[in-house]
Amino acid sequence: METKYIFVTGGVVSSLGKGIISSSLARLLLSRGYRVTIQKFDPYINIDPGTLNPYEHGECYVTVDGHEADLDLGHYERFTNTPTTRANNVTTGRIYQSVIDKERHGDYLGKTVQIIPHITDEIKRNVKMLGNTGNFDFVITEIGGTVGDIESTPYLEAVRQLRWELGKDALCIHLTYVPYLRAAKELKTKPTQHSVKMLQQVGIQPDVLVLRTEKDVPAQMRRKIGQFCNVAPEAVIQSIDVNTIYRVPLKMHEQHLDEIVLEKMGLAAEGEPDLRAWNHFLEKIESATESVKIGLVGKYVELQDAYKSINESLFQAATYCDRKLDLRYIHSEKLTDENVAEHLGDLDGVIIAPGFGQRGTEGKFVALKWCRENDVPTFGICLGMQCMVIEFARNVLGLKDANSTELDPQTPANVIDLMEEQKSISNMGGTMRLGAYDCVLREGSKVAEAYGTTEISERHRHRFEFNEEYRGRFEEAGMMCVGENPKTHLVEVVEIPEKRWYIGTQYHPEYQSTVLHPNPLFIDFLKAAVAYGKEKASAE
Ligand code: GLN
Repeated sequence: METKYIFVTGGVVSSLGKGIISSSLARLLLSRGYRVTIQKFDPYINIDPGTLNPYEHGECYVTVDGHEADLDLGHYERFTNTPTTRANNVTTGRIYQSVIDKERHGDYLGKTVQIIPHITDEIKRNVKMLGNTGNFDFVITEIGGTVGDIESTPYLEAVRQLRWELGKDALCIHLTYVPYLRAAKELKTKPTQHSVKMLQQVGIQPDVLVLRTEKDVPAQMRRKIGQFCNVAPEAVIQSIDVNTIYRVPLKMHEQHLDEIVLEKMGLAAEGEPDLRAWNHFLEKIESATESVKIGLVGKYVELQDAYKSINESLFQAATYCDRKLDLRYIHSEKLTDENVAEHLGDLDGVIIAPGFGQRGTEGKFVALKWCRENDVPTFGICLGMQCMVIEFARNVLGLKDANSTELDPQTPANVIDLMEEQKSISNMGGTMRLGAYDCVLREGSKVAEAYGTTEISERHRHRFEFNEEYRGRFEEAGMMCVGENPKTHLVEVVEIPEKRWYIGTQYHPEYQSTVLHPNPLFIDFLKAAVAYGKEKASAE
């Protein structure tokens, strides 16, 4: 079949959850046996979000092929269980860079290079790139930003042209907000009408409207919206707040979003999507009564999105362990030897977060020392693993000034050091060790048991690494290097086998944890936390 293109735009306000709607629709189409991918266009000038700090843009997600991407790609993967690549996230910066490179190369043959047609053509080429692989029946394209933004204009023009060119093979879903005014006790449809008008002005007629709302939008109001906006009443769908984002596919299916899309695109919408495994997960969410208390020690704890993939991986793993996740954010800058027991004493497991730079690391060492000495299940990820190594060097190996050269370039005991290949790099963008690499796990280690295999592949994002020169001393003292890259022998996993669960990974297992395939290491960590919680309870 010809590849079908679905465009998802947003209006009224940002943060309406276009990513979740795109992911939910993808889930439904996948569950009907179609091959689906989702891509996102971000209308900013950065080439990728790799150089943006979490205050600007939340977590930076990493694809298998080593692209630093928008965190929505994490949702795409968690919902669809399909890996994304560089082609799934394109920014205005990338579009312009490519056009300017072509101009310098002489590809435009003396023509004036303009937003229309050159930038819009480049956008269209990127939209079709995934479809042209022949790997997908549907390409869902999420347009970042809000209709009316100056930055989005070329994207909307590209969408307009593509819809015209592709006819029935293209469709536009517009997501808007229906606010509830408490004082007037009323839902308001005017912002939606305005937002659709704005789309119509640039020549796009939405086929489906999804109304984000906190309160039920009555059928009659939806009909009215449809009438004002030239949208069939059944294609005006509401997306009401739910207790978990993973319920949204069902909410969309209840309102026939998948059938509407298929019919509009000339495909038979027969039968039902196979959502058995998905529903099994949702049932587990609902049936869990006891909780597991996990502490996340990091410096961006006030930001909801900074550790998105870790949160979701923990939630998935807790759900599969039949527990509600009671996640507590612990600000690493506030931890001291005096207050650490108060902050961590009640927890069943502790995660030491990834990150960059010195700020907050001393608190991570405090947490790690306490967790190690009190034998609490502890999971260090990337910088968290590096901190595990440093704390062990300081307090067990007696290397008082041990550090990473990232945090103290003058350290006399550089147990974590800049990778050799990084030493000649001066550009910051896209130059870390990124993406999936193979890792061989030591037979009989906890981590190998957790994965049920000794050969794995996980994604990375770092410049610094465990310093090979110290390996012997760590192993003699009980911290084992149980995972390494088969080619370069870089240390990827450390663990203290005599502890309940004390494991650090240089890689980010959270980038490969989906609803249908939760990451085995998160599952194992949660199992250990649940067991530890039970042990504590029975000792009381
Ligand atoms: N800052 C560390 C490094 O570059 C860790 C990075 C991370 O936690 N993602 O190696």
